[in-house]
Amino acid sequence: MEKKVTKIGVMTSGGDSPGMNACIRAVVRTGLYHNLEVFGITRGYAGMIDDDIHQMDSRSVANIIQRGGTILKTARCKEFMNAEGRKKAYENLKKRGINGLIIIGGDGSFKGAQIFSHEFDIPCIGIPGTIDKDIAGTDFTIGFDTAVNTAVEAIDKIRDTADAHDRLFIIEVMGRDAGYIALHSGIGTGAEHILIPEKKTDVEAVLSSLQEKERRKKLVNIVVLAEGDDFGGANHLATVVKERIPGFDVRVAILGHIQRGGAPSSMDRLIASRMGYSAVECLLDGRFNVMVGIMNNKMHYTPLDNAVKAKQKISDEWMKIVKILAS
Ligand code: ADP
Repeated sequence: MEKKVTKIGVMTSGGDSPGMNACIRAVVRTGLYHNLEVFGITRGYAGMIDDDIHQMDSRSVANIIQRGGTILKTARCKEFMNAEGRKKAYENLKKRGINGLIIIGGDGSFKGAQIFSHEFDIPCIGIPGTIDKDIAGTDFTIGFDTAVNTAVEAIDKIRDTADAHDRLFIIEVMGRDAGYIALHSGIGTGAEHILIPEKKTDVEAVLSSLQEKERRKKLVNIVVLAEGDDFGGANHLATVVKERIPGFDVRVAILGHIQRGGAPSSMDRLIASRMGYSAVECLLDGRFNVMVGIMNNKMHYTPLDNAVKAKQKISDEWMKIVKILAS
């Protein structure tokens, strides 16, 4: 018989994303509603190992739903990669009687949770908190919508100045392994080209399309590129374009960490609240070691073992839309 969950720990881990606070709030308040004791673990797995764990009450999550970042802080923790570190972390939870754990983070954090849940008798629930949206089993990840909106706002502004000067702008957005921010923000701003890690970049095709645009006197062009695109970063692409098409006035903008910060969008607050609530329900219902997601507007539960393996796929149709709409 599985033991009843009575005391839960919650943490944010790995890369931060806007909406994590809204999710912490949902976990704490749902837990308290069910008379659970709720503990906040600071700095992810590092705090678990360092025993940086504090009980939370309803007031401790007041006035945070609208704030970016994470009140629990986040970290990357090498020590958790080895069995000794994980044992230390386990002992710190055990001595408080914590018998359920909720991890808000990305696939790396889920990998840690998966291993931990196999080694020890503390069930883990993952909540996808990442701006990259590179996790299968959910249509949304906390922070993605905000990051895309931030990118769209920035690109709109860049388009104004690009238009004034007849310039080609190459804009690099975040996404080392995933092109979703580039794809969504690029479509949303009418980018002429979108270059992403999931699709091999045919630079000759990009160049010949730009040359053709130059002939048509279409001099204002926006290229959105994910930082992990196989051809290289925005600066490299700009150098090649300048060499091959000297007629273009090329500029580069690298959006960087502004994409991680800021007030979460209403969408991110909503999904963070739903996911946080559901994660606690999972622990109460004995639905252990799953990642909570939302698919087709319904809660969806993926075993952690699968959640760490599969990636979302980029639809070819989306790439076709980019091509047709940017002519
Ligand atoms: P994200 O969760 O955003 O993908 P990381 O990949 O950096 O971020 O993972 C966050 C943390 O999860 C790591 O610093 C480490 O503590 C833990 N982790 C990641 N992979 C493993 C693993 N294979 N074994 C144990 N812990 C891991």
